[in-house]
Amino acid sequence: MQEYYTVMSKTGSISVNTENIFPIIKKFLYSDHEIFLRELISNATDACQKLKTLASVGEFKGETGDFKITVTLDDKEKTLTISDNGIGMTEEEIEKYINQLAFSGAEEFVQKYKDKADANVIGHFGLGFYSSFMVASKVEINTLSYKEGAKPARWECDGSTQFKITRGKRKERGTDVILHLAEDSLEFNDKYKISQLLTKYCKFLPVPIEFDGRIINEEKPLWLSKPADLKDEDYTKFYQTLYPFAPAPLFWIHLNVDFPFNLTGILYFPKIESAIEAEKHKVQLYSNQVFVTDNVKDVLPEFLMLLHGVIDSPDIPLNVSRSSLQSDGNVKKITTHISKKVADKLSELFRQNREDYEAKWPSIDLFVKYGMLSDDKFAEKGKDFCLLESTKGGYKTINDYIESIKPAQTDKDGHTVLLYTSHADEQHGYISAANQKGYDVVKFEGPLDNHFTGYLERQNDKLECKRVDADALDKLIPRESSNIALLNEEESKKLLGVFEAANRNPDIKFATEALSPGDSLITVTESEQDRRMRDMSRMNGFNMFGNLPQTYTTVLNTNHPKAKKLVETSEDEAKAVAEKALNLAMLSKGLLKGERLTAFIQSEFEKL
Ligand code: ADP
Repeated sequence: MQEYYTVMSKTGSISVNTENIFPIIKKFLYSDHEIFLRELISNATDACQKLKTLASVGEFKGETGDFKITVTLDDKEKTLTISDNGIGMTEEEIEKYINQLAFSGAEEFVQKYKDKADANVIGHFGLGFYSSFMVASKVEINTLSYKEGAKPARWECDGSTQFKITRGKRKERGTDVILHLAEDSLEFNDKYKISQLLTKYCKFLPVPIEFDGRIINEEKPLWLSKPADLKDEDYTKFYQTLYPFAPAPLFWIHLNVDFPFNLTGILYFPKIESAIEAEKHKVQLYSNQVFVTDNVKDVLPEFLMLLHGVIDSPDIPLNVSRSSLQSDGNVKKITTHISKKVADKLSELFRQNREDYEAKWPSIDLFVKYGMLSDDKFAEKGKDFCLLESTKGGYKTINDYIESIKPAQTDKDGHTVLLYTSHADEQHGYISAANQKGYDVVKFEGPLDNHFTGYLERQNDKLECKRVDADALDKLIPRESSNIALLNEEESKKLLGVFEAANRNPDIKFATEALSPGDSLITVTESEQDRRMRDMSRMNGFNMFGNLPQTYTTVLNTNHPKAKKLVETSEDEAKAVAEKALNLAMLSKGLLKGERLTAFIQSEFEKL
């Protein structure tokens, strides 16, 4: 495209393959049009910071005054104006920085000043100024450079590759960017919406931003302060500003890294009251104090997404493409670093105040296990501060716990059997039976514990985890049996027959076992293997194996004195006792339901 010049005004075409740039910008950012505001405010902030830097190195000798960005919405004219009193631009600079699309002025500025001062420039967004065309049909710039004798300049472009530069009228140093909102973007012609977006993206920016007479960024970015200068209440107060209705956090980690990448931030451990509450997407990602996203899926390992707080890093590329984030080397390093820091913090808390750590455990249980299951390095550290809770109360580390149950719970093959419950109330009968035998039962009631049992077994090859109702206790922890069955083979068969005849539930099978005489006559059990398979496929949201049937085995104790009586009594009486015993056993496992439950309760009432 040919450029032509006149004395007072200039038109031309925006360079660098721009023929197709606007459709591309629109297309790629379709779901995220609102970020135009973040980009323009970032540019305005940069413009102020740049002048500050120039003043600090003595290149600008005039008065900087107080820096400020003003956002104005004229909803009649449908224009949105972003004004700053920063560095401004000369006509040549517009030509260079705005017209040459791919040329990043910010990049050049940092290169030039990086050794002289702390040139804190946002930039690097890749899209910058031109994202305004996602929402505007026409964009104007009115600007006056800080340079002595500079003339005001005016630039205008209607979203085609044609632009126009003329002499402007601006009298004060700085820049106005005026967006004429496009018909398809009138959602932004709304004061509430703009105010909401400014709060979302810009509340921690260093230059005051005024909208509707209100400064929207009065919060200080606490993560930039030195940890030594902060008190606990500063952290909890900041947490309240981030999550106004959340209960106070349990503890936090102040991140501050400058090598091999830059990263600051504060990660909080939320107080989780129930697993359902454990929401993700609470960590906010910033780049030089500009909010980027709270979808940190590709930056944080999955388990760290349960945390809350802020991460700020100029080294996280802010391109729109998520896949590039995943493969980015810096992002990987950041992830590894954060995960390590979190593990170190937990281990420190555990060592310094075990009592306090235990009190917090119910809220971090899920988090720690999630981390251990998904990150080997985290697991390596986590095994020393991951706690197991006994149903009798009290916490132990994994190793301490295993050691403590070894004497009583090692079976005849040398396997230590960890007994657990997935619901202490529902499985109460089984737990107290186990306790009576001198066994301990761990509470594994969380949503990940199902996987966690598998993890424990993989880590400790002589360990087996069994749910307390997975089998009769004598079979869960089998010993060299010295039991001599009270019933002979024939009597055992008879006993089986009595119960089979009394049974009306097709999902229940029977087996006889010579258990200890003190064990119950009958125990309804559900095989550990089958149950794990079913739980897994349910957890994965689909049934890999079709609808896995839920079957139970009722173990009849042929060593129980009642067993002997049953086979010796009349058939009718045996059947009645068996029926009742079966009902009670099923009731204790919560399996007696519907009509049968009503009938059973009614018949018991009648006997009162
Ligand atoms: P980036 O910010 O990544 O450099 P942009 O397209 O957003 O890319 O902006 C290009 C350049 O235009 C900036 O680097 C800066 O030099 C200039 N610029 C944009 N907005 C302003 C402004 N409000 N004041 C001064 N210069 C600006």
